Amino acid sequence: MRSIARFVVDTHSHISTLYQPKGDKSEQLRKEGKWDGMAHEVEAFDNSALALYDMDRYGVDMAILLPSMTGTYNETQLKIVRKHPDRFRACCSDQMTATKVVRGEITDWKLQMSLDEIEAALKTGDFVGIGEFVPGLNIYRYGYMPMPDFDQRVEEWDAFCELAVKYDVPVHFHEFNMFFRLGNPKWHHAKLLETVASRNPKAKIIFNHGYKDPDLNCKDPLESMKEVYTMVAAHPNVYMETGGWCEKNFEIAFDSGVRACNLMWGHDYGNVPQHIYRKNILDYRYDSKIGIMTDARVFEYRKTDSQFGSGYKGLPTIPTYQPDFYGWGMRTIDRVGEWLTQDEINLIMGGTAARLYKLPVPQPRMFPEARPDIFGENWRDMYPLIPDEQIQNPDPFRIPIEKKFFDDDFTSD
Ligand SMILES: [Zn+2]
Repeated sequence: MRSIARFVVDTHSHISTLYQPKGDKSEQLRKEGKWDGMAHEVEAFDNSALALYDMDRYGVDMAILLPSMTGTYNETQLKIVRKHPDRFRACCSDQMTATKVVRGEITDWKLQMSLDEIEAALKTGDFVGIGEFVPGLNIYRYGYMPMPDFDQRVEEWDAFCELAVKYDVPVHFHEFNMFFRLGNPKWHHAKLLETVASRNPKAKIIFNHGYKDPDLNCKDPLESMKEVYTMVAAHPNVYMETGGWCEKNFEIAFDSGVRACNLMWGHDYGNVPQHIYRKNILDYRYDSKIGIMTDARVFEYRKTDSQFGSGYKGLPTIPTYQPDFYGWGMRTIDRVGEWLTQDEINLIMGGTAARLYKLPVPQPRMFPEARPDIFGENWRDMYPLIPDEQIQNPDPFRIPIEKKFFDDDFTSD
């Protein structure tokens, strides 16, 4: 069976819940119109059977599980990893602390509580990253303490970057405003990302969803995308997820100097509260108590998109079936494959993730190396791209880079 790339990793997977409220609150929350799958504790559910079916069907070798909503504990992810160690790895977050905040059991949340929980998880060596959400925004402070200002948030981020560097794992950056619950409406998240990435050059920061949909308040979505991608290109320690991107995202990213070694394929796989749909079918958001904006400009340049069901009239909040994120995402890669090389696609689809998350790969020599055109000035740091210990069937030796490549300024003319 043809696969889309040599080694495929879904780097953003949520298969530990079906986004149903925990306990018997389900009916009440729905009646009151409060249930959107996000703000309350969810019931855990092992959705790995369908995930593995899809992975086999579409040729996805491994997936990175991210805890996200309260109730999707680190331990819940780990159980799935232990059942299928050759297919999954998991990141960790402060899931217990967050759950206690949501339950009202913690009313004087301090950042240190979350840092301690994450450090304890990293110390076990069982987790490969921090995320999806870095603690400290709305659910922690909503209603009982002031939200941080920009400088305060930068300092909080410094603390998480320090942890990430100490344990040599990437940290996920998901700070954009989602229904005023998960992000912070006070500043543009790209500005925060730029500041944090500059102050913490050793921290590997994953920009979740990679600015899939530009900020709804921006003047010109494509111009805004260009500005953000130009900023990302200037920070080799920033990685972006491409799973929900359309061709325009890829085009503008590469035009802005972003490289495949900073891109990874992943976008909220799982029975998440999102639907994928066509332009002009459900093309506007309605205003509601939770502050969703009436604006569909982001759809002008793309033909399909995924959005949260709760933002649109006529869509169930939680999909009753599992929308096919893999099939959708791979068709986009097929389209950009008309101008992007397969070497670069191999990085985006798995190589970048294998390097970042230290994943086992089956064979040597699968990913590009010693290619200044692909990696830019830092190409020497990318050789070897995958260390020997990660290669399951290594060669007896590595092919050395020709000496003249270093001596004669081989690359400049
Ligand atoms: Zn997610």
